[in-house]
Amino acid sequence: MADKRKFYYEARSFSIYYFANAVFNIVNDAGTYLRGIEDILGDMQALMLMRPFHRHTNLHHFLDGVVRELLEEEVERLDEEQPRFLVKFMQTYTVTYSQEDISNEEAFFDFSAQSERYQASVDELIDEVFHVLFNDARFLESFNDLCATYIDLSGFGERLKTRSGQLKRVAIPKWAKRAVFHRDKGECRECKRSLAATVNQLDTERYDHIIPLAKFGANDVTNLQLLCEPCNLKKAARLQRVSPLHPKAIL
Ligand SMILES: [Zn+2]
Repeated sequence: MADKRKFYYEARSFSIYYFANAVFNIVNDAGTYLRGIEDILGDMQALMLMRPFHRHTNLHHFLDGVVRELLEEEVERLDEEQPRFLVKFMQTYTVTYSQEDISNEEAFFDFSAQSERYQASVDELIDEVFHVLFNDARFLESFNDLCATYIDLSGFGERLKTRSGQLKRVAIPKWAKRAVFHRDKGECRECKRSLAATVNQLDTERYDHIIPLAKFGANDVTNLQLLCEPCNLKKAARLQRVSPLHPKAIL
């Protein structure tokens, strides 16, 4: 038991980072992945991604699809060998199983459908991977860019655009503001200026959409960041310069 405990974090992180890495690679290889997004998430995902501010965020939804898909790929290999990752994952999350359960694909599907511990472990894993990725600003930008491109290509975004040409701005719920304020430690994400003393945590002005609504960035907590006023203005100016409506002159 002592030995097991000694490696608890190591084992647990192995699972979390294995998936976080896989998701990171998928999102950063968005070009090839866009074509497959509906295979993993199912049809009509653009509408799903456009729902404003769900606690089960777009990233949760995405992770749910990807993590289960990756686990299934492991299960498909059961007929040939014991997939190292699947076994390690179940051991780490204390899922009780017999050799019979992992002897072939069919046996495993029966087992996993009945094992509450297995199902709960997958949910726990998804939640833990979410927390790793929610803290990675660069990942969130790539992820929300992927979602925005997907919404744009689907054509659904076009129909829901306001006259000013962007997705409707909706009120940011308190829970979302708190989550972002805590994650960004009350500091402007760009210049690190502390906003805690001057800005009310619930002041909507300082919550910036990482991928702007005008580019089909979603109303999702994973697409928000804290920005001070000067950085927000700088960002707006930068976006205006590169806006496709006003292309920069190439000299
Ligand atoms: Zn700033």
